[in-house]
This record gives sequence, C-alpha cells and structure tokens, in this order.
Amino acid sequence: MNIEQLYSIYQQHRSVQTDTRKLKSNDLFFALKGDNFNGNEFAAKALELGAAFAVVDEAAYFTVPEKMMLVPNALETLQQLALRHRKELKIPFLAITGTNGKTTTKELVSTALAAGLKTYATVGNLNNHIGVPLTILSIQPDVEIAVIEMGANHQHEIEGYCKIALPTHGIITNIGKAHLEGFGGPEGVKKAKGELYDFLRANNGTVFVCNDYDYLLEMSKGLPHIVTYGRSEADYVGEAVTDSAFLAVEVRGDSQVGFIQTQLVGAYNFPNVMAAVAVASYFKVPENKIGQAIAAYAPSNNRSQVIVQGSNTIIMDAYNANPSSMKAAIENFAGLNASKKVLMLGAMMELGPDSIEEHQALIALISSYHWDAVVLVGGDFKKVKHSFTYLDNSAAAAEWLKQQQFTGTHILIKGSRSTGMEKVIA
Ligand code: ATP
Ligand code: MG
Repeated sequence: MNIEQLYSIYQQHRSVQTDTRKLKSNDLFFALKGDNFNGNEFAAKALELGAAFAVVDEAAYFTVPEKMMLVPNALETLQQLALRHRKELKIPFLAITGTNGKTTTKELVSTALAAGLKTYATVGNLNNHIGVPLTILSIQPDVEIAVIEMGANHQHEIEGYCKIALPTHGIITNIGKAHLEGFGGPEGVKKAKGELYDFLRANNGTVFVCNDYDYLLEMSKGLPHIVTYGRSEADYVGEAVTDSAFLAVEVRGDSQVGFIQTQLVGAYNFPNVMAAVAVASYFKVPENKIGQAIAAYAPSNNRSQVIVQGSNTIIMDAYNANPSSMKAAIENFAGLNASKKVLMLGAMMELGPDSIEEHQALIALISSYHWDAVVLVGGDFKKVKHSFTYLDNSAAAAEWLKQQQFTGTHILIKGSRSTGMEKVIA
C-alpha cells in the first residue's frame, strides 16, 4: 500500500487520531511513539474501538492486514499524508512562527479572518512535528484559508514544517531570546525562524512584517511580496492606547477598522493585534467586522489574564517566560497606572549557558523601577545576586501572598511554565 491508497482511505473519513482515548468511529489511527508510550501497542485496540484503519511501524503489531498498513516510520507517514492533503487544498496557508506571541497572533488573525472567510487554524498550541501534520489533516474541503502555528527549538525545524504545509503567506512575530540551548544562541534563533522567510522567498510567497522591528525588515529583504504593519510608515498603521490594563488599538490611515478595545493585557500585544488587522484586511474581510472580531477575543490558558480578587488586580501571565517576554511584561507593568505594584516572577528555563547572565540582567531591569514588593521564585533566581525576596517554589509564593494581605494592589505573576506560577493564586 502506498500514500495514494492511504490518502483515498483518509478522504473517505477525513479524521485522524493518534490517541485511542480520543478516538471516534471511522478515524484513521496513527501509531506514534513517545518517550513513555508506543502507539503500536494500541493499534489493535483502535480498530476494536471503531477506527477505520491503523498505520503501524512495528511488524509485531501488524495483526489485521486488511485494516492496517505497516510502514518504516508512522510519524513520517503522517507527515507525508499531510503533504498529500495540502497539495489537494488549493487555498492560502498562512504560517506563523516567532519567539513570542505565536498562539496569540494565530488566534487574533484567525478570529479576524473568520469574520469573512471559512478559516481553519491550529487548535491550541499544536505547533510541533506531530501538531503541524495533524492540523493540516484536520482541514476540511470547504475551508477557504488555513492559519498554521509553527514552533521550533532547533535549526531546520521550521524548514521541515514548511515542506509539509507549503505556506503561501507567513508571519514571524518577533525574534527574541528563548530556547537558546537548542538554537545555539541568539543568532541561531534568527536563522531558525528565518527559515519561514527563506521558504516564502523561494516560492513567491507573501510575508506580513511588523516594521517596528528593524531586524524583521532586514531579514525580509528580497522577498517578492511584503505587507507591513506597525506604528508608522506601514501599509497598516495603528497606535497602542494603554490607559488601562487592557490594550486598545487605534487603527489609522485609510483603513476603516477604527478603534479596537481588546481584552488583552500589555502593549506587547500591539503587534499581535496589528498582524490580525493587516492579514484580515489584506484578505478582504469587511473592515467593520475586523475590529469587532478582535475586540471579542479573550485569551485563555493563563496568557495575560486579568483576575480581580477583592480590591486586588492580578495579571496572570504564567503560561511561559523568556528574557524577551519578561522584559515586555515588566516594562508594560511598570507603565501601568496603579498605586501599588507587586512583582512575582518565576525563573526562566532552557537558557543554557546564558541563564545566569539573563537572570542577572532581569534583576537589573527590575531594579530600575520602583515596586512595592518583588518576589523571585525558584530556578536560577537562586544563583544570582539581588536584594529581593527569594522563595523556592510556587507553593511558598502562594503562602507568602496569603500572609501579605495586600489591598488595592496590582500583582504581575509571570514565569516559565514549569515553575507553575499559576498555582500562586489557586
Ligand atoms: P509557545 O512558544 O509556547 O507556543 P507562543 O509564541 O505561542 O508561545 P503565546 O502563547 O501567544 O506565545 O504568548 C505567550 C506569552 O508571550 C504571553 O503570555 C506574553 O507574556 C508573551 N507575548 C505575547 N506576545 C508577545 C509579543 N509580541 N512580544 C513579547 N512577548 C509577547
Ligand atoms: Mg504557542
């Protein structure tokens, strides 16, 4: 059996699953391997549960030949099938990568596009070697445009995703410091994310570029089609209004999008919002609907949520943290008009040999502003010099917070996901 035959089975049911616990009848099951599981062991079970077909990559589990395909590597077959499906879909694919704000941008862009076009976007954060092909295989024939988030922590990863998704359009949200270990330093991050521009350059693609970032303008040189957005001199121009904790954006120029009151915290969401304005306008979504759609979007998953507890306001941004998103969040919080401010920061992870230096730099940044209290939690905060309160984990931070009995205070809580800072207010 080959990919063409597998594709015709896929076309009968159009639903792929890798987890028997989520299996629906007639799904096409792929036996993937993880660190702690071997999907092959579940292939027969998948058929019992009603899967239409199963792809396995270990001969010992090739037990139902009429309903199974034995391949050298089921993950690679999944990726090949995704590419086969992609070729069938004659629609634009917008790929989104970058250091920070991929999911937020993906959500905003797809929400805005959906106001005018049948849109399919990556669900949640399924942005890796499994998530990208699964996303593509979830795109039904009536979809008019797809928005695909691509994450990466090493070189050639984005290149690989582009070869499966064949994007026609792309956004690099920004280039910052994250996963420095896997990328081999800041220049490595640029090169890795730049693989999206490289693909679009070679394939007559279109990029949406935030022209507030000189490095993106530099990197996008030579691309055949560039659409810009930003604070000035861009195709789509807007201004961030930050009177309250929530960002508002005034879209200027010829655009009819107008004023957008968002439910997002932080001026660093300005480029994310403008990306949505630019993409949706470019794809001819009625401009009066674009602002409405963006305004209606509320983030989930601890990405910059505002939680009011008594007289206190908590900005919960515990989804992830790296030097650039920490800086953005702290600077934004410093600029917020509030009488009492407390910072609770969990450590940053995956920074490799730069970790101590980056934590020390963060201490310097924090020290340049006035705070009513600063609490640093876990990881390499233990190893750097500072005069703030240090606590070992989020449980200790929760206890500390309880004892303080703050009133009328704004509290920013942020940290790498593994520091579990969201538990502080549980
Ligand atoms: P992941 O790598 O986990 O997929 P992501 O790139 O999808 O992350 P989001 O989930 O959208 O990013 O946002 C995560 C956090 O990054 C936010 O809570 C916020 O702190 C920060 N962030 C979002 N947008 C920006 C931006 N444009 N610049 C800097 N930081 C940002
Ligand atoms: Mg994401």
